[in-house]
Amino acid sequence: MDKFEEMMQKMEQKSPEEKKQAMAKNRAMCICAGCPSYSSCMKEKDELLFCATKKSTCSVEMEGCICPNCPVTGMMGLKHAYYCTKGSEKEIRGI
Ligand code: SF4
Ligand code: SF4
Repeated sequence: MDKFEEMMQKMEQKSPEEKKQAMAKNRAMCICAGCPSYSSCMKEKDELLFCATKKSTCSVEMEGCICPNCPVTGMMGLKHAYYCTKGSEKEIRGI
């Protein structure tokens, strides 16, 4: 089991309120807003934390992805990038 799977297991043991708090904390750490691929459409829709939610509802021009530099990547054991176009880490892994 890798770090991401361990983190998912821990997350599942949390109460709904604790899950909400953890998501809010990660959202506050998300650095997507500083990414060259982050669009005004995403900003208007207040979209962030694609790695833990789902891909963007906006059309995305892939102009680079700074997810590998994000603190959430190390903390959650993420292995991918471009979550705004590919979907969440779970979706990409098919779990
Ligand atoms: S890894 Fe990417 S999508 Fe996830 S919180 Fe960080 S910048 Fe946002
Ligand atoms: S998921 Fe990656 S490519 Fe998309 S906006 Fe966030 S940092 Fe940029």
